[in-house]
Amino acid sequence: MEDGKLLGNIFCITDSLYRDMCMNSSTDHALLFSYLTELAKTIVDADRASFWKWDKRKGELWTMSATGVDKIVMPDNKGLVGKSLREKKTVITNDPYSDPDFNPAIDKQTGYVTKSVLVLPVADINGIFIGALQLINKNSEKGFDEEKDTKKLSLAALVCGIALESEVFLEESHHDRLTGLKNRMGFYFDFGGKFKEYLLPDSGKVMSVFICDIDKFKRVNDTYGHNAGDDVLAFTSHLIESCCGENDSVYRWGGEEFVMVMRDTDLDAAADKAEAIRVTLMNSDIDADGTTIRCTLSFGVSLFDPGKSIEENISAADARLYTAKETGRNKVVKSDE
Ligand code: GH3
Ligand code: MG
Ligand code: MG
Repeated sequence: MEDGKLLGNIFCITDSLYRDMCMNSSTDHALLFSYLTELAKTIVDADRASFWKWDKRKGELWTMSATGVDKIVMPDNKGLVGKSLREKKTVITNDPYSDPDFNPAIDKQTGYVTKSVLVLPVADINGIFIGALQLINKNSEKGFDEEKDTKKLSLAALVCGIALESEVFLEESHHDRLTGLKNRMGFYFDFGGKFKEYLLPDSGKVMSVFICDIDKFKRVNDTYGHNAGDDVLAFTSHLIESCCGENDSVYRWGGEEFVMVMRDTDLDAAADKAEAIRVTLMNSDIDADGTTIRCTLSFGVSLFDPGKSIEENISAADARLYTAKETGRNKVVKSDE
């Protein structure tokens, strides 16, 4: 491609990226990565590009952006991407089928034929490698050129690193470490995203919410210690989460309080779900720092009213929780009671 046209194409992508970033109030990193991989592909004139994220805890590399497949997950000790991250350097092969590190599994799955590959490891701002940019099939006979193509890709790789770091940071700030559940920040974030349409008064959509609180939890801490209390919190949160359907979202609201938001669920169905969780927890033996104990939960359930604020809706459920506590605990109270 002649230089003027190439530059024009690059500016087209960066201009669209800039506009989307400015117009889009939701922080959608997936969109950012799709622009950046498109940019990388254009800059080196390759057929495909994908950005691989490194989940070091699971020992996995994964990507969303390969065409024809939803999500590809690979062990981090395999393949050219794994090699590039292990060796902390650019990896190029212009004859992949003779390269022992090349994994032909994705080609087999998709029917695509890989002829050349370039992988550029991507670091965070501290120089720690966190992902990799992979380019496939350079549109020229000679294949990828290590020096020239790496240099051309450096800016896209740098921005990918910063974007990934910000995505991880956002993810962590929306989650609670002890339970792994989303926290209150995650809750409000979801109201700007997946619950957005349920806030419209005339959407015709139904959503319910419950808030629950572990009964006499202070006593667990006082009797068995704080570690035992933490174990009870982790157990209870996993139990609640295991009862979540695909339309349900659960949050650690505060200390020993959890909120569940249930889309397309009416008040009775929400109360039934709360009741099922209540009974299961009541009958569960919890290993709390070496001692087996039992705990109970009280619930307040209400139908989400789009005419009211999010806080007013939570307060409505909280008022029912208060009633449950006042009238004996270990029970579910819903808003028409
Ligand atoms: P009630 O039935 O009225 O809800 O009584 P309660 O004892 O559960 O309520 P209270 O609000 O008096 O006590 C809640 C306790 O939860 C106090 C606090 O120390 C404890 N807590 C909050 N967060 C954590 C945590 O992360 N770990 C542990 N172990 N305890 C926590
Ligand atoms: Mg409590
Ligand atoms: Mg409480």
